[in-house]
Amino acid sequence: MARVKAAVCHEFGKPLSIEEVELRAPISGEVEVTLAAVAICHSDISYADGAWGGSLPAVYGHEAAGVITATGDNVTGHKVGDKVVVTLIRACGTCPACAAGTPTICQTAYDGDKGPLTMPDGSKLHQAMACGAFAETVVVDQSQIAEIPEDMSSTCASLLACGVITGVGAVVNAAQLRAGQDVVVIGAGGVGLNAIQGARIAGARRIVAVDMSEEKLEVAKEFGATHGVLATEDKPWRAAKDALGGRGADAVLVTVGAAPAYDAAPNYLAYGGKMIMVGMPHTGAVSTYEAANFAAVGQSMIGSKMGDVVVPRDIPWMADLYEQGRLKLDELVSGTWTLDQINEAIADTKTGTAKRNVIVF
Ligand SMILES: [Zn+2]
Ligand SMILES: [Zn+2]
Repeated sequence: MARVKAAVCHEFGKPLSIEEVELRAPISGEVEVTLAAVAICHSDISYADGAWGGSLPAVYGHEAAGVITATGDNVTGHKVGDKVVVTLIRACGTCPACAAGTPTICQTAYDGDKGPLTMPDGSKLHQAMACGAFAETVVVDQSQIAEIPEDMSSTCASLLACGVITGVGAVVNAAQLRAGQDVVVIGAGGVGLNAIQGARIAGARRIVAVDMSEEKLEVAKEFGATHGVLATEDKPWRAAKDALGGRGADAVLVTVGAAPAYDAAPNYLAYGGKMIMVGMPHTGAVSTYEAANFAAVGQSMIGSKMGDVVVPRDIPWMADLYEQGRLKLDELVSGTWTLDQINEAIADTKTGTAKRNVIVF
């Protein structure tokens, strides 16, 4: 057992409380990672606000980077001293989804109440999202980590744990975009900007960003969008189709969790195009489509979780892209904070910028 400082949620909607908690040593298949950086994601905020329920008290935080400081038995391919990214993608490796190469939809459930964290009085402390990374140190399953270059900035590396892989992976893994194809990205927020740069990296011909904000469309162009269309226009897909020579897009990525964005998305598709569903509207939200249209012109809808990434394959690849100057990460960081300042950092994130606030240790 070790005492570590963590930001604990005792009550939904209340500020997180910085306190000492107990972290047990890694057991079979687990590693202990002493964190250098953890980014704040909108999912952490939704959980802390109670939007998705879950056990309390809990430690959130799931986009982290640090150094391995201990390993349990049966850990292969990782050793003390390795610099790693820590993700929430915990894969058992043997269920049908893992065996089929889709570990982001691993069917073996994780019970965060049986995780490595406890309160100092011995009571339960929930390791949210199998990470609990709003803490100085984490103990996670070895499937959740990927090695990164020694000299890579931890602040940038932490971004590879969630938003970046979700956006880039949606293009490369879910849409399987081919060089020369046309793309529409609905929403130029954190995930949308990464879908845009993923499309650029994959060799897209034209990339149209669609957003409600003129300002976000300008940022989208810095990340590789060739055109911007305001979602507030009347029938914005007309302007998007004009930009794409009248044909529509081979891949339309919906990166916002809003039902109206899903309702509009098929209008942007070319014949044979794929709609990639990334953003998650609130539980119960419904979109309606005319099914015959999809059958008649060979279109499809594909759900994509966490960019369908395979952690040991895709994260080292994206770290290389960054080192080669082909993937923007520094530009995604809006500020750095200490763990003690986490409530201020969360408040700043809630103001709605597309970029990430990162806690550095
Ligand atoms: Zn996240
Ligand atoms: Zn599995």
